[in-house]
Formats: sequence, C-alpha cells, structure tokens
Amino acid sequence: MKCIIFDADHTLYDLPSVESAEEKKFIFLQEKTGIDADKLRDKWRLVVRDILEKGIRYYEKRNREYSAKETLLYFGLDEHKAKILSEKAVEVFWKEIVKNLKFYPETKEIIKSLKEKHRLCVASDEFRKSLEMKLDRIFGEWKDYFEFLVTADDTKELKPSKRFCEIPLEKFGVEPSQAVFIGDSWERELAVAKEMGLKTVLVNERREGEPDYWVKDIREITNINL
Ligand SMILES: [Mg+2]
Repeated sequence: MKCIIFDADHTLYDLPSVESAEEKKFIFLQEKTGIDADKLRDKWRLVVRDILEKGIRYYEKRNREYSAKETLLYFGLDEHKAKILSEKAVEVFWKEIVKNLKFYPETKEIIKSLKEKHRLCVASDEFRKSLEMKLDRIFGEWKDYFEFLVTADDTKELKPSKRFCEIPLEKFGVEPSQAVFIGDSWERELAVAKEMGLKTVLVNERREGEPDYWVKDIREITNINL
C-alpha cells in the first residue's frame, strides 16, 4: 500500500473525559465576566442542545467557539468581547484535554516505522487547531510524521463523508486501491472508504462492520502487512 490515511480521535489516541476541561472553561469565563460559572454552563448546554437538534451535519456551528460565543451574547456581552472571550475559553478547554490525552508511548515509533515505507496523512472531522494541538502533544511536531492533515475546515462536512478519502487521494495523487484507511469506526469512516475501493483497518476493542483488517489498538498495526 502506498498511502495510509489515519483517523485521529480513538485511533491514534484516546480522549480524557471532558468534565474537568469544561469546568476550567467556565471558571475562566466567570473570572473574565463576573457571570456565575453554573449559570454560564446551564445556558451553554441549552445552546448546544439547540445546535444538535438542528442536525449533526450543521458543521459550521459545531465548533466550541460558536456555542461559547452564543452563550456570552445571551448574557449581554457585545459581539467583539464575546468572540474574543469564547476563543480564549475554548483554548483553555483544549489545553486541559491535550494535557490529559491518553496514548501509548509506542505510538510515535510505530508511526515513524510506517513512514519509512508509506506516505502518511491524518483525516479527522476535528477542526484544525485542536487537532494540531493533540497531534503535537504526541508527536512533538506532527509534520515530522504526516505529510498533511485533512480536517473539517477542508471537507466542510463531518463524517461519514467521501471527502475524507477523496481529498487525501487527490493530494497524494493515487488511486483508491493504493491507499488504506485506518480508523475506529466502521460507520463513520471505514464503510465509505471500503465502498470507494480503499483497504480498511478497524482499530477498536470490538469488531464491527466488514473491515479488511481488525486490530484492538494501534500497537497491533505492526502485525499487519500493509
Ligand atoms: Mg475516531
């Protein structure tokens, strides 16, 4: 296989629970605005529920800055201040998540050895900024390991979407049969990849769908002859 496309969350690493990160975010906003953290959180939950009800593929508004900003606007902050503070608050959130990211120490070496034989990229429906923060935590500089990242900023869609395969194939300049998609979800990424003619590897405790290969975690990737 010439090229490998990796999903990120739950494939290359696992995420900590978001609770402590959310907590830090609202405490930060309380300090900056004087509005009670619990009140901010309650309103924010309503904003998020409303966004989700409008449909999961409503991608522009799925970012955390948007929901934080809407919350601040509700409490009477002006547009400019709400925008700046929501961006800072989301940074506080991601810093906490990234600090507690769960990953195997071997991951770096595994990816490095794959890079010797294949061209690598990451295709995730994260937004670029937070994805880079996570990958840099594990790899130091993600650019030393992957040629490029394809994110929701590029696809303008969330998974499942063909764009997460199409864009990497275009960038690598290869046919689907020359690429493999490695991800943790059959429904969100591998089903589409397989339908398009890519090879698929499921990284999941549980087997699901009809992947070409199945491993329980990223460390077992080295057992597959890609
Ligand atoms: Mg994933």
